[in-house]
Amino acid sequence: MPDTDYETVRNYVDGVWEPASGDSHDVVNPATGDALTSVGFSTPSDVDEAVEAGRAAFEMWRETPIEERIQPLFRFKSLLEEHQDDIAAALVEEHGKTLAEAKGEIRRGIENVEVACGMPRLMQAGHVENAAPGIDETAVRQPLGVFAAITPFNFPGMIPLWFLPYAVASGNSFVLKPSERDPITAMLLFELIEEAGFPDGVVQLVNGGVETVNALLEHDGIEGVSFVGSTPVAETIYEKAAAHGKRVQAQGGAKNHVVVTESADLEFAAAKAVSSSFACGGERCLANDVVIVEESVYEEFVDLVVAEANSQVVGYGLDEETTIGALITPEHEQRVRDYVETGIEEGAELVVDGRDVEVAGYEDGNFLGPCVFRDVTTEMTIAREEVFGPVLGLTAAESVDDAIDMLNESAFGNAASLFTGCGADAQKFRHRAEAGNLAVNAGTAAPMAFFHFGGQKDSFFGDLHAQSEDVVRFYTDETIYIERWPDA
Ligand code: NAD
Repeated sequence: MPDTDYETVRNYVDGVWEPASGDSHDVVNPATGDALTSVGFSTPSDVDEAVEAGRAAFEMWRETPIEERIQPLFRFKSLLEEHQDDIAAALVEEHGKTLAEAKGEIRRGIENVEVACGMPRLMQAGHVENAAPGIDETAVRQPLGVFAAITPFNFPGMIPLWFLPYAVASGNSFVLKPSERDPITAMLLFELIEEAGFPDGVVQLVNGGVETVNALLEHDGIEGVSFVGSTPVAETIYEKAAAHGKRVQAQGGAKNHVVVTESADLEFAAAKAVSSSFACGGERCLANDVVIVEESVYEEFVDLVVAEANSQVVGYGLDEETTIGALITPEHEQRVRDYVETGIEEGAELVVDGRDVEVAGYEDGNFLGPCVFRDVTTEMTIAREEVFGPVLGLTAAESVDDAIDMLNESAFGNAASLFTGCGADAQKFRHRAEAGNLAVNAGTAAPMAFFHFGGQKDSFFGDLHAQSEDVVRFYTDETIYIERWPDA
């Protein structure tokens, strides 16, 4: 399928589309290797312009009645629904995932806009009459100024919406710095933002890379920073933002485990474990990396996973039958291939080998077929480090307790799932497994937008997470009013 013509990706600052002042970089279709368009990188002065516009707009926006503030979000939701298929197709072209995955992603983004439309309720804090003799006390959530979000390549249509709708509905101004690897989706979202009618300066888009991020982190006019990306960068952002006196929430990488007990529905568990592993080509912070199986059913489960993995179709994301699309860059594809080599060298057995995959018509694409290892141990590199590709490891455990101990050895704590028919196992798992998103008899799926997106250990730096009430707390300060009215 031919690539669509996209205009050059520009910034959206103070209600105006303008090119960034820095160098221009190609945006490449990972399935074809062809440049789709280019994106300019923003310099510190571009960032300064966006932040100053945000600060100027904030004074007016925070005083705008909350009911008025959410009206553009209702319009944005309708526009997103109207244009979701076009945005999803563009997302496939610049990211490589399948069309069904891209559509699902946009839907999960819209869900956040819907939840943020409930800001008149979400922003309410508390009130106590007679907190002390003759005194009433009230907590009021107030917006703080300009917030920035720095987002990763893997969900360019959803992750910006973990933040943007909540930031602006709560009365702040907002600056998004999307991934430079797939910035077309954010541009399309912002075309709808413009149409939805937010006042100029309330919502801004600045494109760029490390220099742009550093300018945001160092800018005195930014109150707080939300980050989603890899763990080493998350840690750096957390430290730098805090050193510059900002609020910061930084979501990092992951290594997610699935536990399967002998009482589980094994066919169901194998199907879910495989889809959790290979969805979006494994480029998900919720990807299932390792399945720990109770040893009495290990051999049976390995066979089910192998059959399921062999039924995957690798191809161009816009082709309907594709279940595994392209990886984001040739460098990333090579990195994942290197992990497969390391797995073999360290003694795991590769029972499904997707390295020789060929996609007819897309010879220059970054494709890797599903790879499944059995007999992975917790010391192996592929069991410890985030691979971010279609690579799944299987291992056996003597009991559920051993399986939980094994998953807790991971430095990461993003998600874990248990497949079981036993309530006592589920309770044990819920109490002891160290991850921010836990599931029982479900794959590693993202929480709905009316819950926050969990994350622990090296998967999260901060205390208030993305989405829902947590992010509203992040974007507001609770001022306490203490009132006494002595009788006249
Ligand atoms: P990344 O860390 O390379 O980049 C994320 C963002 O940070 C991008 O906007 C990028 O421009 C910027 N950036 C990159 N290097 C930087 C640096 N040295 N200094 C300042 N800014 C920098 O991540 P990615 O490859 O785009 O995304 C994949 C990663 O994101 C994976 O590790 C994945 O697990 C993680 N992720 C986590 C979650 C979560 O909720 N925990 C969700 C999605 C993705």
